Amino acid sequence: MAKDTMIELIDVRKSFGELKVLKGISLRVPRGGVVALIGPSGSGKSTLLRCINVLTKPDSGVIDVGGRTMDFTAGHRLPRDREISAFRARTGMVFQSFNLFPHMSVIRNVMEGPVTVLRRPEEEARREALELLGKVGLHDKAESYPERLSGGQKQRVAIARALAMKPEVMLFDEATSALDPELVGEVLAVVRQLASEGMTMVLVTHEMAFAREVADTVIFMRDGYVVEEGAARQVIDAPREAATRAFLSHFHQNGLAAAAPPQA
Ligand code: ADP
Ligand code: MG
Repeated sequence: MAKDTMIELIDVRKSFGELKVLKGISLRVPRGGVVALIGPSGSGKSTLLRCINVLTKPDSGVIDVGGRTMDFTAGHRLPRDREISAFRARTGMVFQSFNLFPHMSVIRNVMEGPVTVLRRPEEEARREALELLGKVGLHDKAESYPERLSGGQKQRVAIARALAMKPEVMLFDEATSALDPELVGEVLAVVRQLASEGMTMVLVTHEMAFAREVADTVIFMRDGYVVEEGAARQVIDAPREAATRAFLSHFHQNGLAAAAPPQA
């Protein structure tokens, strides 16, 4: 794998029973790169994202994150669960549905992984958790419980919790889809900041204006294939494939323009 590559997938395939969901996906994300995965519901975006951290085991193909390889090609010894856990620890994942521990305070949610999985001392974990909560704008919510937070605040806690594990890569699966429209911006602002700090990220998103602004590369998937891949503005403003055009036509062009940042 090239030195500046952070994520590489080679010919990844996955079926659920008879249903072929990923039909040979290859992609490369450079260190610090941001890729947006777009496409209709059911096209395989979540499955692909879950294959990157082996939350879903592909049937075949190769997955490399930060120079560590999980090889599922025929004839290879399948990775053991411990190897998969170690591999997965290098990626942080944020889901549509937050998945916070309801019985733990915000800061406990953020500290839990470092303390129990990484065996970090309490005080150190607490200090870092407070720093991360500051970073996502929730320093004052450290002692609150998730039920007292808005959706946008919960999602920012989920991001802080993922970052507490010091991942090399962050994966976002429709992180703003469950939010009221007025709360989307505060979560996207955190993602934007991570991008500017050089975090390597793959985002499944329906926020086309955001994908266009923050992603370097946009990948349009349909029916288990990559249909089109290119520079974010090219794919979103001037898609080459008819299927990409048809998909993007569902998103209001005026809305897209209105949400896009002013041009320099
Ligand atoms: P997307 O995120 O693009 O909407 P998904 O990757 O979630 O697509 O799903 C792709 C297809 O795979 C869908 O038809 C979905 O029903 C199916 N699928 C996803 N996960 C499973 C699973 N664990 N078992 C069976 N079918 C699944
Ligand atoms: Mg999905």
